[in-house]
This record gives sequence, C-alpha cells and structure tokens, in this order.
Amino acid sequence: MSDTTVILPQFVELGTNKITGLLHILKKHQVAYNKALLLHDDNTINIGGNDIITTLRETNIRVINQTVENSDEKTARRIKGTIKENSPDLVIGFGGGKVLDVAKLAAADNNVRFISIPTTLSNDGLASPVSVIKDDDNIPISHITKPPHGVIIDIDIVKKAPLRHLMAGVGDLLSNLSAVFDARLAHEKKQEQIDTNALELAEVGGKRLLELGAKKIDSPVFLENLAQGLVKSGFAMCLFGTSRPASGSEHKISHSIDHYFPPSKGLHGEQVGIAALFTMALQKNSYYEAVSSFYKKIGFPGKLSHLGLNQEEFIRVVLNATRIRPVRYTILEHVRPSADDIKGLLKKTNL
Ligand SMILES: [Zn+2]
Repeated sequence: MSDTTVILPQFVELGTNKITGLLHILKKHQVAYNKALLLHDDNTINIGGNDIITTLRETNIRVINQTVENSDEKTARRIKGTIKENSPDLVIGFGGGKVLDVAKLAAADNNVRFISIPTTLSNDGLASPVSVIKDDDNIPISHITKPPHGVIIDIDIVKKAPLRHLMAGVGDLLSNLSAVFDARLAHEKKQEQIDTNALELAEVGGKRLLELGAKKIDSPVFLENLAQGLVKSGFAMCLFGTSRPASGSEHKISHSIDHYFPPSKGLHGEQVGIAALFTMALQKNSYYEAVSSFYKKIGFPGKLSHLGLNQEEFIRVVLNATRIRPVRYTILEHVRPSADDIKGLLKKTNL
C-alpha cells in the first residue's frame, strides 16, 4: 500500500426501495447540497432518473440533468464544462458504467461530491477510484481518481438490467481471483509491496459467488452478493491506491484486445471473465475448476467467438499483452508463454 491518504466511499446503501428513499439516505449521511447535477442516459432517465429529479425538486433543490451516452474524452469534457458553468454542489450518476465513469471523473476534477447509483452490475467501477474513458482513437484508458462519496444500489432497479450485463459483472468479479494470484506472485518474485487486507477484500466476493453456486443470477440473493462483491472490489482498489487487486494478467489481455482489435465486441466483464479462465489455467490457480464449471452452469459466454476473435488473433493478443503496463508483474511475465503454449491452453480451457 502506498503511504498516501486512503479515500473510501463514505457510505454504501444496498437494498430495495433505495430510490424512493433517496432524500432520507442523503440526509442520514449528512450530504448537504443546494444544486444537483443528475447524469443519466436515454434509458435510465425513464427507469428512475425522472423520479430522482421530481424527488429532489420537491425539496426546492435546483436540479439540472444531462445525458451521457458515451464514456469518451469528448463527453467527459462536455460534462466538466457543465459543472464549471453551473457550479452544482452534488453530482449524481444514475446509469451503467459509461454514465458512472464520466460522472466520477468530471465530479472529481471539479472537486464536487459524487453519488454513484448504478442501474446495472456489469463491472466493479461502481465504487472504485477508477474511471475508464475512451481516448480519441477509441481505446479505453483507465484513470485513477477520487472514488464516489456514496454508493446507492437499488436491487429493484438492477434486477431489471439485461442478463448480459449481470453476466459481465460476474466475469469482472471472478477475474479478481486471477488478479489477486498475480499480485501475490509479484510479491513473492519481485518483492512488490502488497496489502493483504486489500487482496482478501478483492477476492472475497468472487469466492462467495462460487460458494453460492449457480443460483438464478437475477435472483435477489445472487444480485445482493454480486453487488457486495463489486463494491468490495472497488474498496480494495481504494485501499491499494491502484487497480492492482482487481487487475492482473487477465486485464492485460483485455486491454490488449481493446488495443489491437478496437472497437471490441465484448463488454469489459465478458473480456476479463474469458481472459481469466485462460490466465487461471496458466497460473494453475486452485479456483480454475470451480470457475470453469460455474461459468458452464450460469451460461457465461466463455468463448473467444463471443468477442469476435479467432485463435490466431487471441494468440497475438496474449503475446502482446506484456506490453500493457510492463511494470505490473503477472503470470504472463513470469511464464512468457509461447504461441504453442497458448494454443495448448486454449484447448484445455475450451475457449
Ligand atoms: Zn475490470
């Protein structure tokens, strides 16, 4: 862990009827504000966004709202401009990863409190200090910034999210089992400093899903555990001060796909979930069998074809993955698999 100050979200509210109880939640956690900026997309404005605006206006709070359809530099600049122009003292992000990533970065850059209200559970950015913004070449770049001040997860809202998003969330959470293995390996081989608590926090959510078994993934109990796991993953990154506990070799492979085959066809969680099966086989990770059979049971899209890649392309992706964040030591740097090794592993993992 670095010796800089750790900033964590001040509160997490998880359960049902959280949107209707929004004013109460903000009051309970002493969030004072006079003017709020609500960020949403074309869909989320209709599944709760308008309700949030009505609720806030009932208390004479001034509310402005803007649509965020893309998490790219251009949109981030536009939202930063809106904040400068209107000086809200609270930014609320109500949407999926794109809305939350833009809201998080724009609010932090303007030093305004940010409340994260995810409408889906597709990745672990909902409580993390990481904001992923696409650059002008359409390549996603991870920025480390301030995490949300508060996180509110309404199970009634997230249960309506597309199943594909929830699967992706499972993939991102289980991929931590690969990332944590890499962090421990780096500690052992390179004497990299590790924060044991942060690593345990990063892997506990994935382990919990495996224990739960393949319950219906849109059942309330599964969603609550998925949400808790993703929140803990975000907290682990806050404690560490980098994405390390939740991003190892499998994220390098995903970034390599983004880099060499843009725009990627898969969601982030699908890419890292598929890559994690590969890296866990390479690691001889003790969770490999459990993750592999869990994927089969829930119908996780565990095939390269889902990402629009063939075997040759994936081999190129893996061979180039060590160019991504070369200082971060993972199983890829440790083993340096050859094209033949990769081919063999693809057979073993049936990707
Ligand atoms: Zn991730």
